[in-house]
Amino acid sequence: MGRTIAVVGASLAGWSACVTLRSGGFDGRLVLIGDEPHRPYDRPPLSKSFLAGAVGADVLPLATREQFAEVGPDWRLGRRATSLDTARLDATTVTLDDGERIEADVVLIATGTRPRTLPGQPQATGLHTLRTLDDALALKPELAEGKRLVVVGGGFIGAEVAATGRELGCEVAVVEAQPLPLADLFGERMAETVSGLHEAHGSSLYLGVAVHEVLVSGGRVRGVRLGDGRELPADVVVVGIGVTPNTEWLRGSQVALDGGVLVDAYGATSVPGVYAAGDVVRFPSGRAGAHVRIEHWTHARDHGAAVARAILGVGEPYDPLPYVWSEQYGTMLQFAGYPAADATVALVEGDLAERRFVAEYLRDGRRVAVLGMRSPRTFTRIRKELSRA
Ligand code: FAD
Ligand code: NAP
Repeated sequence: MGRTIAVVGASLAGWSACVTLRSGGFDGRLVLIGDEPHRPYDRPPLSKSFLAGAVGADVLPLATREQFAEVGPDWRLGRRATSLDTARLDATTVTLDDGERIEADVVLIATGTRPRTLPGQPQATGLHTLRTLDDALALKPELAEGKRLVVVGGGFIGAEVAATGRELGCEVAVVEAQPLPLADLFGERMAETVSGLHEAHGSSLYLGVAVHEVLVSGGRVRGVRLGDGRELPADVVVVGIGVTPNTEWLRGSQVALDGGVLVDAYGATSVPGVYAAGDVVRFPSGRAGAHVRIEHWTHARDHGAAVARAILGVGEPYDPLPYVWSEQYGTMLQFAGYPAADATVALVEGDLAERRFVAEYLRDGRRVAVLGMRSPRTFTRIRKELSRA
């Protein structure tokens, strides 16, 4: 094992790797590079309790001051990695935006993803995407009582921001390009039940129609124009139309890229001594029967730890059952498995109309995924059984 490990991306996967490297006995130099100015923090509250003002920024850090000190990385915060030089055999060099060059025996790429934007999306006051703490700090004061909020995209970001907007007294409209939000993941019947939360809580849903243009007047957003020509007025617009992996800085290196950083079951890239973990990677999954990129919290944490163990020489192949939770309009939603739109759905307990239930997804008579709404106990039992399968 080398004496310097450089981790690029100071968020969940990168921090989880640092903790595991230290607890696994690595006592060499650990450099943690992140382009945000903050120490690693948690993103899920940014669209939920933090955005709603129910909790402050003090709950966000992924570790206490003491834990950060114990792991003791050599911090490079507010600094962007601009290139990776993989030509030498004895070391890999990460170059930062201020020209600093960090030579490392092992590099771990954990640069995550960033929000996609609409084609030709203008810059305007009141127009937001949401990924970082700074994004949330900019959006938060705009979500005031009576404001007209248009959310573009009915995925996880869209649904959670819409719910928080309603909680804060905004008039909310959600525009989703697909006939139903999240139908690729949940299948039509369940997606209909889940998206029914919007109308049940007073948000308007515009389905099967994309936003074609954001309307701006005097530098401030004033609405959106839909693909069918309709205009929706807005004081605030949040665009949540998916993400792009942050891999541009790796162009010119020999690290293989294809819809993310390609890794094997141990997180190793195509270049010896260079690993990758978290939202940014595509890894081979026997469960999915394909290379997959997972964009959920639990994967980022577990993959960071798994790849750190591989770096320490005690790795095992990584192929988890994906798990995601979401909180919308005070309702806890949990899903485990790969997208199951083609599977048969069977109710295990509860009632769809009451939006309190557990449903399992069956393919060729075999259980492949599970969805729960406000039913964590049974959901967790089935999730555990599925994980072991
Ligand atoms: P990221 O968190 O994207 O971190 C990558 C870091 O690398 C970032 O800080 C980025 O700025 C930095 N970086 C990028 N390029 C460079 C570079 N060249 N040099 C230096 N640094 C760089 N998942 C759930 O399962 N449940 C939830 O309820 C949930 N809620 C969420 C709410 C929000 C608002 C968001 C945005 C995400 C949510 N997620 C949720 C998803 C979850 O947070 C992500 O899966 C997780 O953050 C991925 O972690 P990561 O470390 O792989 O990548
Ligand atoms: P997402 O889940 O991929 O959803 C984006 C949705 O927007 C898709 O349904 C997409 O449809 C639609 N869309 C695309 N272009 C559109 C347009 N022009 N007009 C209207 N709709 C359009 O991505 P996201 O919601 O933006 O989330 C971003 C990231 O944060 C993801 O990694 C997500 O996992 C993570 N996140 C997770 C949680 C959670 O797990 N609870 C919460 C918040 C964020 P198409 O499929 O047709 O493109």
